[in-house]
Amino acid sequence: MNVHDSEQMAALLAPVGYKMTDNLKLADLILLNTCSIREKAAHKVYSKLGRISKLKEQNPELIIGVGGCLAQQLGTKFHKKVGHLDFVFGTHNIYRLPQLIATIKKKRGKITEVDFHKSLNSIGVFAPPQGGAISAFVTIMQGCNNFCAYCVVPYLRGPEMSRPPEDIIEEIKKLADCGIREVTLLGQNVNSYGKTLGNGLNFASLIKKIGKISGIKRIRFTTSHPRDLSYGLINCFAEEEKLCEHIHLPVQSGSNRILALMNRGYTVEEYMQKVDHLRKIRPLISITSDIIVGFPGETQNDYQETIDMMEKIRFDSVFSFKYSERKGTAAQKLEGKVEECEKLRRLEQLQMLQDQHTLEKNTAMESSKQELLVEGKSKNSENDLMGRTSSWRIVNFKGELELIGKLVDVKISKAYLHSLRGKLIKEVGNVN
Ligand code: SAH
Ligand code: SF4
Repeated sequence: MNVHDSEQMAALLAPVGYKMTDNLKLADLILLNTCSIREKAAHKVYSKLGRISKLKEQNPELIIGVGGCLAQQLGTKFHKKVGHLDFVFGTHNIYRLPQLIATIKKKRGKITEVDFHKSLNSIGVFAPPQGGAISAFVTIMQGCNNFCAYCVVPYLRGPEMSRPPEDIIEEIKKLADCGIREVTLLGQNVNSYGKTLGNGLNFASLIKKIGKISGIKRIRFTTSHPRDLSYGLINCFAEEEKLCEHIHLPVQSGSNRILALMNRGYTVEEYMQKVDHLRKIRPLISITSDIIVGFPGETQNDYQETIDMMEKIRFDSVFSFKYSERKGTAAQKLEGKVEECEKLRRLEQLQMLQDQHTLEKNTAMESSKQELLVEGKSKNSENDLMGRTSSWRIVNFKGELELIGKLVDVKISKAYLHSLRGKLIKEVGNVN
């Protein structure tokens, strides 16, 4: 989501003359797009801003702004913490960037804009894809109403609001005209898409509308809340052939006691039933998840239940985190804080187990035929291309540059933990 916010910032600033540079010393404007989901991310921002401040000594004209969740959280306090900042803008104020910068250029001063708006202006900014891109993010909703006990998002991104379907469709058609072949629909809880529109439209019907856009070959979405994953949406995996064979379904814990404390609104049994149904509908679907270890009150027994659940479900991959206390959240007030070293022990053990499962799943794909959307050159070797399977796996293979942006078939020759090796079979669809 933050990556897409940054793309939108670049898109807003291009018409007023700003271009991207990799060289900070050449920059007239430096924007930091911050995250404060976990404490570590917030710490990184301060050290980066410290380094950037030196550039202002050499170039007094340099403008420095901070946006994103941490900016939303701190507001004017950011100026007190970091003296050389010119402006702070919140998650609902991205669209105001050109005006904010124009004001600072006219008259230097400290600006803060962190008000929440009832509009969707900041998520409706069209970011033209970078040259050669074939995959793009499209934000379909803003904010979150769930208030999971550990999470700052509802406080920093505001209440849930769905974007009208006409706007989403128009944006995707424009992206398709620019060469985009795959869209990832973004929202904190895409499964509740439509609730704030009050016109009966839900996420499954939105996917079906998007499926009709010619030029778009693949549809993905993130993130799905397990409580709101309806059977109608699960059935979409059978009915909409452009919907990729992958769902990211964050479970967070395998203990019902901890799930209740987290205010997640489902039990492990309900979660597993949905996984079973997904696998019945689409047997090879890749299921990935997020898990937090060391939530307040998590005992060795609760943790073991998470491990047992992982053994039963066998996720394709998992993003796992140590619980990080965030100010103002319900979990901050809970007793039974887990020691940092114990959290780390649990995290490392869990990650080792998941690596085994990921490798096992990847290995099962050896000798299979996979359709790839070719994204570009491989990071590993200049001579190879890289594409993704429908299940979101990276495959490196030998092929001509003209295949970039096309759908091709490969046979998987070797599986690794983080990628697969493939051999080109034939080109199946010229999508130019
Ligand atoms: N809206 C999405 C994800 C939001 S944040 C969802 O509900 O799934 C992405 C992930 O960060 C979460 O799934 C959770 O696993 C993790 N996370 C959020 N707050 C956290 C915290 N305080 N400590 C550790 N991990 C956290
Ligand atoms: Fe945070 Fe929960 Fe909302 Fe996801 S659903 S953003 S974890 S509050």
